[in-house]
Amino acid sequence: MLNLNRSAFNYYRHRQVLVTGAAGFLGSHLVDALLQSGANVIGVDNFITGRKQNLSWALKQPQFQLIEADAIQAPTTYLTETDTAQVDVVFHFASPASPPRYQQHPVETYLVNSFGTHQLLDWLKQFHPQARFIYASSSEVYGDPEVHPQPESYWGNVNPNGPRSCYDEGKRLGETICGVWQRDFQLDVRIARFFNTYGPRLDPDDGRVISNFIKQAKQQKPLTIYGEGSQTRSYCYVDDLIRAVLLFGALPDLKGKTLNLGNPQEYTVRETAKIIWQLINPNRKLKLQFKPFPKDDPQRRQPNIDLAKKLLDWQPEIDFKTGIKLTAEKFS
Ligand code: UDP
Repeated sequence: MLNLNRSAFNYYRHRQVLVTGAAGFLGSHLVDALLQSGANVIGVDNFITGRKQNLSWALKQPQFQLIEADAIQAPTTYLTETDTAQVDVVFHFASPASPPRYQQHPVETYLVNSFGTHQLLDWLKQFHPQARFIYASSSEVYGDPEVHPQPESYWGNVNPNGPRSCYDEGKRLGETICGVWQRDFQLDVRIARFFNTYGPRLDPDDGRVISNFIKQAKQQKPLTIYGEGSQTRSYCYVDDLIRAVLLFGALPDLKGKTLNLGNPQEYTVRETAKIIWQLINPNRKLKLQFKPFPKDDPQRRQPNIDLAKKLLDWQPEIDFKTGIKLTAEKFS
C-alpha cells in the first residue's frame, strides 16, 4: 500500500472521482490510492489494453464502481445522472501507452487523447464546471529531444507523421485541447507529463523495455537491445509517480499548470539490461541480442522536475534497483 501520510491526501476524502483508463497500469494504481484516501471512484475502461485483474483489490471496495466503456464517447452515453450527481475530479488516463500497443491501436490512441479529452471537458463545462481535470500527458510530447534534460518550457522535436505520431501528436493535441478549455472556458485543467514508469502490474506482453527485460531475464533468455543500446531513459517507480499525481490533483492553485513527473536518474538501455539481468540472475553471464533501432525512437530522455519539486514538495524516493526488485517479485 502507498504511504499517504500527507495532509494533502485528505482532499480526496468523500470526493467523487472519475478515472478513465482505470484498468491500465497507471490507472489501476491511481484508483487504489484514491480509494485508500477515502474517495468514491468511478473507473472507466474499454479493456483494449487494460486488464481487469489490475482492479482485483478495487473491485472489492464498496466505494468503487467499474464501467466498461470507451472514453472516446460522450460521458453522458456511459454515465447515469445518479453516477455523476457530483464530480469533483477527473483523471483522464485512458490510452494505449507502450509503443507496440499504441502502434497496434493508432486510431483509438489519437482519438482517446484528442476527442476523448474534448468530450470530457465539454461535459465538465456543462455539468461540473468546478471540477478539476488532470490529463495524463507524456514525455513523448518532447519527441526526440534536442534539449536535455527536458524542462516543461521545451516545445519538443516530434515527427508529425511517423510510427510514434499517433501517440506523440495525440498527447500534444490533448494538451492543446486542455489549454483551450482552461483559458477560454475557465476550467481547472492540469497537465501531467509522465516519463517512463514501471512497477507491479506492468503488462508482461506490452513490449516495453522494462517488461521485456524482466520477462526475458526470468526465462534466462537474451535481453533484446534495440540499436546499440546507447539511447537513454529515466525510470520512475509507480508509487513515486502516483504520489505525485495525487498531490497534483489535491493541491489548490495549480489550475493551468503543466508538470513533468518522473525520476531523473538516467540509464542507457545497455545499463538497464545489465542491472535487470544481474538482479534476476546474479550468477549468470549477461546474454544480449541486438535488434534494429526502431524508427523515431528518442535517443535520450530525462525529466527536469524542478517545478514538480517546488509546487508539490515531492521527489521520487525509490531507486531503480529497489524498484526493479519490487517489480520482478510480482511480475505476471
Ligand atoms: N527497447 C529495447 N529493447 C526492448 C524494448 C525496448 O532496447 O526489448 C528500447 C527502445 O528502443 C527504447 C527504450 O528501450 O529506446 C524504451 O522503450 P519503451 O518501449 O519501454 O518506451 P519508450 O520510452 O520508447 O516509449
